[in-house]
Amino acid sequence: MSRRSRSAGAASPFGPAGTPRVVVVGAGFGGIAAGVRLKRAGIDTFTIYESSPGIGGTWWDNTYPGAEVDVASHLYCFSFRPHRWTSSHAKQPELQRYLEATVDELGVRPHLRLGTTVESATWDDERHIWTVALDDGDVDECHALISAVGFLNVPRYPSWPGLEDFGGPAFHTARWEHHRDLTDKTVAVVGTGSSATQVVPAIQPLVRRLYVFQRDPGWVMPKGEVELGDRELARLAVPWRRRLERLRLRYALEKALWGGALFRPGTRRNAARERFCLDYIERTFSDRPDLRAAVTPTHPFGGKRPVFATTYYPALKEDNVELVPSAVVAVTPTGIVDAEGTEGPAPTAARSCRCSRRRRPTPSGRSVACAASASPPSRCDRRSRPGGTGGCSARCAGRRGPSAGTTSRRRAARW
Ligand SMILES: Cc1cc2nc3c(=O)[nH]c(=O)nc-3n(C[C@H](O)[C@H](O)[C@H](O)COP(=O)(O)OP(=O)(O)OC[C@H]3O[C@@H](n4cnc5c(N)ncnc54)[C@H](O)[C@@H]3O)c2cc1C
Repeated sequence: MSRRSRSAGAASPFGPAGTPRVVVVGAGFGGIAAGVRLKRAGIDTFTIYESSPGIGGTWWDNTYPGAEVDVASHLYCFSFRPHRWTSSHAKQPELQRYLEATVDELGVRPHLRLGTTVESATWDDERHIWTVALDDGDVDECHALISAVGFLNVPRYPSWPGLEDFGGPAFHTARWEHHRDLTDKTVAVVGTGSSATQVVPAIQPLVRRLYVFQRDPGWVMPKGEVELGDRELARLAVPWRRRLERLRLRYALEKALWGGALFRPGTRRNAARERFCLDYIERTFSDRPDLRAAVTPTHPFGGKRPVFATTYYPALKEDNVELVPSAVVAVTPTGIVDAEGTEGPAPTAARSCRCSRRRRPTPSGRSVACAASASPPSRCDRRSRPGGTGGCSARCAGRRGPSAGTTSRRRAARW
């Protein structure tokens, strides 16, 4: 579209169409909802600009194994477009399909301009018009500008020293590299927030060895996700029952947040939730006091975003998983240096992990996760294969490691 064809026009306040020209920035849930509502208001004179080559925002970017919603699907969807969700908490592919079908069925697709970033928007007080500059050099004009740019869509990359020199592949959960086959590889996941707690149980059965780096344990609650059976699906296919379910879910969610007591230490609600989480830790790790101690948070409930995850804690107990209760401070060509490792004698801790060099300036994002192949191997690999030539010192290679499934409390002895 040329600048002229998209101009707001001067003859009539809204141009020939008689409706305001609108620009929406972003085609995630927010931008799509704006598009549908504009159409329902009889406004067809709008364009949705989206940086990515596809729609979906969060769900376009986050395709990592195990990616799914925390909020129940009958609430986490558009009120104007019900859907027959196959599980209580939809996974990314189903969410993406849902969003694609929404833009097709509700006539939003022709308004999309994908792969185009809005670089700036300037208000002209004389003409009462926004001038919108696009990254392809084009310029648009509109009467109303709707920002739906999201807040979690720019991955935050770490700035660990040595990151650039790591020899293996690595990537962020929000930019999962699906062509990397993790089968039988040694993998490190850095971070234990919501994304990491979904990735870990999803890849644990595949990989040879999985290291989970935890700077600070967070509060974890089981999510209660279930596949919806035929009976439940039939029940929720009835419109009024589905609406009632949505109301019920919304009421439960809002009620939990009323007055903010849940997130205020010292309140009964906060204490009860903390107790619930502690009970969950007790129940899950009764046979693993090392893990129980390592995953128990030191901050009050709500000190940082709680995690909803049913499969994460059990995955930590698997034989091929090792929780490293320590922050990552640096990366070497063959692995990771954690906070404890730097204090110990050289060589320090090493893990097969590297994060991408792609960096973006905005400091936001859910969690950082790295995944790397076993080649070159981590120290642990070389321990089992003494002839390895991965660059680890003889001192390191000669040490014996703990049995699988322990936390890294004895790391100094092992490495
Ligand atoms: C892994 C993950 C799981 C989540 N799970 C939940 C959950 O269970 N429940 C919940 O409530 N929330 C969840 N969230 C939060 C989630 O971000 C929101 O629920 C929702 O998807 C946000 O939609 P949005 O349209 O506002 O933003 P986004 O989905 O972030 O979409 C914004 C879009 O704007 C585009 N954009 C940004 N700037 C520009 C620009 N200048 N020009 C053009 N395009 C631009 C981006 O490319 C992006 O596609 C989750 C987030 C993540 C990352």
